[in-house]
Amino acid sequence: MNVLIIGQGIAGSCLAWELKRRGADFTIADRPIAETASRVAAGLVNPLTGRAFRPGWRQEECLSAAEAFYPETERELGGSWWQKTPIFRELETEDQLEVWQERQTAPESCAYAGPLFPWPEHWEGRGKAAYTR
Ligand SMILES: Cc1cc2nc3c(=O)[nH]c(=O)nc-3n(C[C@H](O)[C@H](O)[C@H](O)COP(=O)(O)OP(=O)(O)OC[C@H]3O[C@@H](n4cnc5c(N)ncnc54)[C@H](O)[C@@H]3O)c2cc1C
Repeated sequence: MNVLIIGQGIAGSCLAWELKRRGADFTIADRPIAETASRVAAGLVNPLTGRAFRPGWRQEECLSAAEAFYPETERELGGSWWQKTPIFRELETEDQLEVWQERQTAPESCAYAGPLFPWPEHWEGRGKAAYTR
């Protein structure tokens, strides 16, 4: 089987990695565009996304796949791109605060919705803040 992959963003790269692991032949055709989604995104895994801080689709399954996949690519390629870091979330409105509090107790999100803390006085802004773990 010879697979033609069009585009080498994160999706094309991961597919190529998997095909290589399985011993399949493939070719990648990419267009040299400077600002693709994979190049400009600040981070690729965020367990509570969007304004409603929703857990991602098939979250646990995807996180454990990522946990296995990215460190393997680091070991083989000798780099470092799987770094876990808390994500700062500003909770400006009452609605956002309420949603965050729901996320703190819901089974599918409580592991990720960190405790609330007051917005630091010396920062601009208002309301409360929290970290996504
Ligand atoms: C500002 C920003 C922030 C983001 N933040 C997050 C985040 O926090 N968490 C998260 O999970 N996701 C985030 N995303 C989304 C995530 O970055 C994308 O879903 C992901 O990078 C898409 O990867 P991709 O490989 O599908 O596409 P792309 O990265 O767009 O790759 C497509 C590739 O195809 C090539 N191509 C296009 N047309 C052709 C053609 N005709 N022929 C050949 N090659 C072609 C392009 O040059 C490119 O290399 C963010 C996106 C943006 C823009």
